[in-house]
Amino acid sequence: MERKVSGRPKYGDLCYYCGKQATQIDHVIPQIMLRQIALSTEDITLEVIRSRILTVYCCGECNCLLSDTFTESLTLKKKLLKDRLRKRYIKILSIPTWYEEELDELGYALRSCVEAGLEKQAFIKRRLKW
Ligand SMILES: [Zn+2]
Repeated sequence: MERKVSGRPKYGDLCYYCGKQATQIDHVIPQIMLRQIALSTEDITLEVIRSRILTVYCCGECNCLLSDTFTESLTLKKKLLKDRLRKRYIKILSIPTWYEEELDELGYALRSCVEAGLEKQAFIKRRLKW
């Protein structure tokens, strides 16, 4: 599912890497590398390079986690991103399964806290499956 996008993401555009609402654009080849290429030759301007580069919509968190990362393919970049998401959310992902009977034994405040954690966990798992 590689695609070249242009302009700002619109409502409904999803992050290429995790499926969350996209708010930014990721340059598949980091801009810092493009600048270095443009500086190293007079034949290719930065504008020419920019007009031909591949970009994908992404969410702010994925864009931040990837930063200036360069990989040989988008598939590898997506895999790397998911490794970083797994590492970032390791505590939430390690929340054990709770059964309804167990939740019923908790007080309101603790139950709310556990359920909030489980919702976050489900959200992270959906992003990792994307
Ligand atoms: Zn994302």
